[in-house]
Amino acid sequence: MSQAAIGRAVVTGGAGFVGSHLCGHLLDAGAEVVCIDNFATGSAENVRHLAGRTGFRTLEADVTHPLHVPGRVDTVFHLASAASPRDYLRLPVETLEAGSRGTRNVLDLAAEHGARTVLASTSEVYGDPLHHPQHESYWGNVNPVGPRSVYDEAKRYAEALTMAYHRAHGADVGIARIFNSYGPGMRPDDGRAIPTFIRQALAGEPITVCGDGMQTRSVCYVDDTVRGLIALAAADITGPVNIGSQHELSMHALAELVRAVCGSDSPVVHVGRPQDDPRFRRPDIALAARALGWWPLVPMEEGLRRTVEWFARARTEPEDRSAE
Ligand code: NAD
Repeated sequence: MSQAAIGRAVVTGGAGFVGSHLCGHLLDAGAEVVCIDNFATGSAENVRHLAGRTGFRTLEADVTHPLHVPGRVDTVFHLASAASPRDYLRLPVETLEAGSRGTRNVLDLAAEHGARTVLASTSEVYGDPLHHPQHESYWGNVNPVGPRSVYDEAKRYAEALTMAYHRAHGADVGIARIFNSYGPGMRPDDGRAIPTFIRQALAGEPITVCGDGMQTRSVCYVDDTVRGLIALAAADITGPVNIGSQHELSMHALAELVRAVCGSDSPVVHVGRPQDDPRFRRPDIALAARALGWWPLVPMEEGLRRTVEWFARARTEPEDRSAE
């Protein structure tokens, strides 16, 4: 990463899963980091291990209110939003507000400082895709009134608003469409598949796979996701650009893999499938490779091993939540 290009960074949602890793990677690269979070779904514990590091500070603030950051700002990473289905179904209006009003406040903050904005969008903008794999040119298949729409449409609006600031005001922006990421620091009870499977496997409980388990996902280790976001910040492309792994596997196969990595003999059981749950998910990452020189580096078994180790440690030492 070019530290000069990133400079002093603001990370909204910096106390969340991806955000806390991003803050850590930026500090490792010598950048200064201002983490903005309202702790709606993240926690101060996630960044406790960064608190003493030079150049790091946390501001407790809600992005749906106007944002003020003293000093210089060169790059704003906008990650603040509920992201797990359990969270956004619990916080439907807040999720829409983080994507709409929150994105506007972030773009205004960046405009005030002449900073580049990197929007953390999502593969969910493709909805239940009719094209496979998903290329950035695909417009998606989203149910605008289904329960998931609070997240999917918030991100679609956030992308549209970001492009409007770019076209109308010449804002310097980059849109990342992040596909499912996993790693140390996820909440065991956040409802996403990998932390759920790991928690269940480590506890010797049945591993619950939704539906027949034949729906697919392509999961990316968080270090790789974060490298992609930083590469986009340092580049001068607008995107949108897919950031994700091409290693696609069924949820049933993922459950079996987690069970093997955990050394667990938990049975895999099938439960009901949520409404509008996408059947397929795999990014076309040719653009990221070409424009950012980015592709995932951590093999899935290795990423899962690191994640399981972290979850096992957090079970026995719950006060130590530092994500490596
Ligand atoms: P997370 O819930 O762990 O982190 C989100 C953070 O944003 C939390 O710390 C939360 O407290 C904060 N936040 C929420 N609303 C806020 C508000 N109004 N003001 C200030 N802070 C607020 O989720 P995550 O998995 O780390 O996801 C981070 C971002 O990446 C999200 O924007 C998400 O849409 C995007 N993303 C994540 C994934 C993934 O697999 N994790 C995939 C695609 C996109």
